[in-house]
Amino acid sequence: MKLVLLLLRWLRDAFSGAMLPPVSEKTLFQKIMDREEPGDILYEDDLCVALRDINPQAPTHVLIVPRNPIPSLDALTEEDESLVGHLFLVAQKVAAQERLTDGYRTVFNNGPDAQQTVGHVHLHLLGGRQMSWPPG
Ligand code: 5GP
Repeated sequence: MKLVLLLLRWLRDAFSGAMLPPVSEKTLFQKIMDREEPGDILYEDDLCVALRDINPQAPTHVLIVPRNPIPSLDALTEEDESLVGHLFLVAQKVAAQERLTDGYRTVFNNGPDAQQTVGHVHLHLLGGRQMSWPPG
């Protein structure tokens, strides 16, 4: 009887797909990088992609996103040290490309208090208007 139950359970799992290896879900930014979702990509290299924010908070609002889907700033490790530096150098490059000669701001939102909404770490580059301080 026990054997029959085990067999039935195995059949149920096999046909419901539960025994298949889990399909890893891509983040929104990975889908944009892979051209599965639309996105205005300004720059890309082996390590990261820079794309315009869909809901810009300044005349220029670009997100610099590593290809590696690290969920947040908190999840970075020492291994990511040079990657983080690279993201800032790309921000500098894009700022020059966008002619942000009067300055710009870079921001990492981390966690709910900072209103991080996408769980794939990204550096915001904002410019083209006078900023205020403190930020909202
Ligand atoms: P966070 O709030 O996580 O720091 O930043 C996420 C950013 O992603 C927000 O500024 C938001 O406007 C932007 N965003 C959300 N969905 C999309 C999208 O589908 N395409 C693009 N380009 N940006 C998006």
